[in-house]
Amino acid sequence: MARVFNFNAGPAAMPLPSLEQARDELIDFQGTGMSIVEHSHRGKEYEAVHNEAISLVRELLGVPDSYDILWLQGGASLQFAMVPMNFLLPGKSADYVVTGGWSEKALSEAKILGQTRVACTTVVEGRYTRIPTQAELNLDPNAAYVHITSNNTLFGTQWQTFPDTGSVPLVADMSSDLLWRKFDVTRFGLIYAGAQKNIGPSGVAVVIVRKDLVAAERKDIPKILRYKTHADNNSLYNTPPTFSVYLARNVLRWLRDQGGLAAMEKTNRQKGHVIYQAIDARSNFYSCPVEAASRSFMNVVFRLPTEALEEKFVKEAKAAKLVGLKGHRSVGGIRASIYNAVSLEAVTALATFMDAFAKANG
Ligand code: PMP
Repeated sequence: MARVFNFNAGPAAMPLPSLEQARDELIDFQGTGMSIVEHSHRGKEYEAVHNEAISLVRELLGVPDSYDILWLQGGASLQFAMVPMNFLLPGKSADYVVTGGWSEKALSEAKILGQTRVACTTVVEGRYTRIPTQAELNLDPNAAYVHITSNNTLFGTQWQTFPDTGSVPLVADMSSDLLWRKFDVTRFGLIYAGAQKNIGPSGVAVVIVRKDLVAAERKDIPKILRYKTHADNNSLYNTPPTFSVYLARNVLRWLRDQGGLAAMEKTNRQKGHVIYQAIDARSNFYSCPVEAASRSFMNVVFRLPTEALEEKFVKEAKAAKLVGLKGHRSVGGIRASIYNAVSLEAVTALATFMDAFAKANG
């Protein structure tokens, strides 16, 4: 079988065992004579998968019972709108910390719906190369919430420690780094993530939300857009994306079997160090625009001396079975996305390729 080393930013590499399980069960799910995608979402077979996926998120992240865990459609982009729709009550304002293109998008949706403030932006000439310090945040103590993007998929920056927002609920878009390591969920009012990077395929987003916030949310919006609707119905208010949840369940099982998030963090840090070392060891050829303390362990971005060399790099890497390395069209350069399912072996192969490419072209 010719599987390549996949560095795509999302949809991204999935753990092979979770795909193999899906292949083996696709036509006949657990002796039921039909596929999981043919089962009713109200039947006991699907419900068991759905609930196991929720329990695994709870177990892996240590989510207390005071939080609901939801599977929602519409991707992280719908959460850009649902968060302010539900929590930005009239007369209130929300704080946004802007650290990249996705934070900009989250802010622009909130602006349509209510009053917002930029508590900090790290933009310089359209680019973002760092995460702000706590001292740089100009926080409104009366804000409805503070929104951050925990990992900036385009620019390769990541919050290493989360900001202190006092009693104001912290809301985080963790689309590109949820489950890369364990953290204290109780620091957050709401966490959301599109699944298609670290959790599973596209088509579903996970939302972890404090129950007391759900109880206090706005009531004059369409039912389908209220967190309460989905919380009250265990994310089965309408037909969920059953295949996406099933595949996410397989990935979550794999994460548990790897030793959980402590083991994942160890490997992820090793992987990050291997690539950043490959960049720094040949700093006359490769350069990482991101400040050292803000470097992401999920999306590593770097530049070569010229765009022509970057193009050659992507092409030759692909021929060497290292795929998906072209930077986002808005940023350029090279981006290696090294989510949980990207192995240390894949990352080491990339570092070896980088070294040889620099020697041949430097
Ligand atoms: N937030 C972040 C940090 C992302 O990386 C992405 C997708 N790359 C999104 C939001 C948008 O996600 P979706 O396509 O699921 O709406």
